[in-house]
Amino acid sequence: MPTPIYNITPFTLLDYPGRTACILWFAGCNMRCVYCYNPDIVLGKGRLSIAEALTFLRSRQGLLQGVVLSGGECTLHPTIFPLLETVKEYGFDVKIDTNGSRPRVLEELMTRQLVDYVALDFKALEHRFHAVTKSGLFSEFVESLSLLNRSDVSFEVRTTVHSDLIGLADLQEMVKFLQHVDYRGRYYIQHYVNGVPVLGGLGRSEKNERLSTLSTDQIQIVIRE
Ligand code: SF4
Repeated sequence: MPTPIYNITPFTLLDYPGRTACILWFAGCNMRCVYCYNPDIVLGKGRLSIAEALTFLRSRQGLLQGVVLSGGECTLHPTIFPLLETVKEYGFDVKIDTNGSRPRVLEELMTRQLVDYVALDFKALEHRFHAVTKSGLFSEFVESLSLLNRSDVSFEVRTTVHSDLIGLADLQEMVKFLQHVDYRGRYYIQHYVNGVPVLGGLGRSEKNERLSTLSTDQIQIVIRE
């Protein structure tokens, strides 16, 4: 029996805006972001089956409002479709965290009304995308962003900033890019946390307090600590 899920966080107030939720952590990823905080999940194997996750979720019906699919990259796992069919029957709202690399999967999730909220990582612009993610999946990210922009599914765009990878000028270009593709709303910035084990060998990141000054009429930068 396939075991795509690495672990379950049984309760969170922080990961699904406005909802009490749990998190299903999916093993494996098609990127290798140098600042990734979840090397065990990205490089490790899953340990729980969909059936085991559903048993847990059934026990939380009426106690939690939402289910977050995170990882790793949950859209790599075809079993999220039967999983989410049942999760919706159970009455949960669904959020997915994604790096945007599987636009066709995202499109199908939205068409089948299996997702209520999407957190989309904006890793970097094209010229820095490989340095940050060790992948060539920028155009897939752009397609995912475009799909979300055209949909009525709630979503957020977010970027992790390490000062060696994304400086003030880079972020300014990223804001311009979002404006260019007509994204409107909040743009969440998370500073890299020094001292946490990550995938790549990164030095200390210096916080730049000026990042929040890059907000525009169209895009409000929100720093997440
Ligand atoms: S930070 Fe990068 S490598 Fe880590 S799970 Fe997200 S997309 Fe994958």
